[in-house]
Amino acid sequence: MRQKMVVGNWKMHGSAEQIQQLLRDVIRGLAGQESTAVGVCPPYPYLPLVKQLCAESDVKVGAQNVSRHESGAFTGEVAAPMLSDLGVDFAIVGHSERRELYGETNDIVAEKFMASQAAGINPILCVGETLSQRDDGETEAVVLAQLQAVIAKAGVEAFGEAALAYEPVWAIGTGKTATPEQAQEVHRLLRGYIAGLSEDIAANLQILYGGSVKDSNAGALFTQADIDGGLVGGASLQAEQFIAICANTEN
Ligand code: PEP
Repeated sequence: MRQKMVVGNWKMHGSAEQIQQLLRDVIRGLAGQESTAVGVCPPYPYLPLVKQLCAESDVKVGAQNVSRHESGAFTGEVAAPMLSDLGVDFAIVGHSERRELYGETNDIVAEKFMASQAAGINPILCVGETLSQRDDGETEAVVLAQLQAVIAKAGVEAFGEAALAYEPVWAIGTGKTATPEQAQEVHRLLRGYIAGLSEDIAANLQILYGGSVKDSNAGALFTQADIDGGLVGGASLQAEQFIAICANTEN
């Protein structure tokens, strides 16, 4: 059976003081919820602090992004081996904000996925359609193209050391959530596509849902057959909400 997983994406929020308080509350609140894997993704500068604060807990630490290059003249970038040096456990790649605001194409995302794995860091690959793509009936084509670009470069076996997150762009930070049925339909599609290449990889792959997950909708989403937990933005900044979302995976 696949382990449920909840990952908090803090985006560009927080200060050292706020993070210490948030993590203290989260770690205390998660006591006894061992069956779910929990991770948090702070902004880069706070990774060492967060690693230190999580050292005595089961909370994993992830990066929100990673360079596709191993080293070199890439001002402002952070390479996967550097994240590895810090003990970072996983990295989000292809978040829709990176795709939209920083021009990350499917090919660039695939390179980031591979750079991350080469440094021993498990990627969480984000895929998702915009509202106009959904309205135009393109959801399936868009998410499969995003997935195929990575499989074409990295191979399906690479998903043995990775996770997938379905994040409809229209649901991120908008308060609009995909219904459990809408989300499950895309999760089933993604898992089915991978199963066509490798039954074994598909059966073990954690596919998270992201897009305005909160305490009130997490239970219905996480009990869908192909939804293995959540990638949580806004609600991960509130300890009580985040703990309650994690508790919903225990149902
Ligand atoms: C995200 O940024 O990955 C996300 C899902 O954000 P939110 O939960 O705020 O919609």
